[in-house]
Amino acid sequence: MRTTDGQTSPDNSMRASFHTLGCRLNQAETASISATFVNRGYRIVDYGADTDVCVINTCSVTEGAEAKCRQAVRAVLRRSPNAYVVVTGCYAQVGKEALQGIDGLDLIVGTAHKMQVVDLIDAPQKEDAPRVVHTTKIARDDFSLDVIGNYSDHTRANLKIQDGCNFACAFCIIPFSRGGARSRKFPDILREARGLVARGHREIVLTGVNLGTYSGDGYDLLQVIQALEDVDGLDRIRISSIEPTTIPEALVDWMGTSSKLCPYLHVPMQSGDDDVLQRMKRRYTRADFASFIERVAERVPHVCLGTDAMVGFPGEDEAAFANTRLLLADLPLAYCHVFSYSGRPHTYAQRYMDPVPPAAMQARSRILRELSARKKAAFYRGFMGRTVRVLFERLENSGSYIGFSDNYLKVGVKASEDLSNRMALVRLHDVSGGLAIGEMVSSTG
Ligand code: SF4
Repeated sequence: MRTTDGQTSPDNSMRASFHTLGCRLNQAETASISATFVNRGYRIVDYGADTDVCVINTCSVTEGAEAKCRQAVRAVLRRSPNAYVVVTGCYAQVGKEALQGIDGLDLIVGTAHKMQVVDLIDAPQKEDAPRVVHTTKIARDDFSLDVIGNYSDHTRANLKIQDGCNFACAFCIIPFSRGGARSRKFPDILREARGLVARGHREIVLTGVNLGTYSGDGYDLLQVIQALEDVDGLDRIRISSIEPTTIPEALVDWMGTSSKLCPYLHVPMQSGDDDVLQRMKRRYTRADFASFIERVAERVPHVCLGTDAMVGFPGEDEAAFANTRLLLADLPLAYCHVFSYSGRPHTYAQRYMDPVPPAAMQARSRILRELSARKKAAFYRGFMGRTVRVLFERLENSGSYIGFSDNYLKVGVKASEDLSNRMALVRLHDVSGGLAIGEMVSSTG
């Protein structure tokens, strides 16, 4: 097993496995935590395999996400009753009382100590009751992460550059689970990026809670991207979810011309109704959001624009929902992730006394999911007959190599040669099973 310093650990070393729930930022953090275990001599095994330590990095964004976390803990304990089981992440921060009730769980680590998990279990011995390492004081200082993320897939890597949020949207628990906004130190971002590229990663996905508010060492997000473009061997930079009010015009223009910054933005809309947006304490109106999306679509050729919509926010009546549906239908969006409102402790929205009935929430959710599927299919169909640049990731059981285009089309190609981690030009001719199907035109390395 490789350590992050390129060394080999002995086969009789302790085994650790990892499971991530929730967002891309959690995935980035799991990769960092995993790297600290590798550096300590652990052998990383697949989640589900027999293990000595299992770390579950959790999510608390909805009640359903929390229930999945508890299920995951119980599943690990059933499978590996002797494993030392650790829960960290957002649910460990805001739901430690519920977790403490799970028999067999050994360690609960809140947000502030997440990166120290390996230090906290020096000699993993099952505990009689869960040990809790937790504080509500989450530092607001800029931070470093002294590791290179450990990913089993060597094509794309997530790179955490920011954490926390100061925006206090009325539905959102993240400012409580992760604390206030803070940025990763600029040189530390470049150091990890170079390390990831040296491991063979060709695409980096920038992650954070509120990426657009990045302000480390006097640099902003665009300056981070521009510096990363100069990292030798890095072919692609992608921005993960980013708040609509935090994207400067200069970044849109850069995306329109850069050969490395992917033409892709996931910009959460949440609602298309001004009254709901105001009650959500979002920082834009329906018209602001619409004009932003239209501007990006005009200025960034072939851009893939995605969004999130929340249904069932308290007070969302049929007219408000119709405003959301119609705006989504009208805008040049490629897809929409749909969430149902889930009341979260501590949040402002807990004060609202006009809940939407569950049946209405389910119906609205279904309508938007169907709309999203139609929009996605139309977006894919728009590229038939065109040639796109694809970075291939893996061979699937179907016999097709799967990869993503710059603008995030999921592409499948039949090929006799090994295309893993290769870039190629692909001419697309069909849409099937959620894939854009094509033929290789040429391999570009
Ligand atoms: S911007 Fe709003 S929704 Fe996003 S993390 Fe911050 S508070 Fe939550």
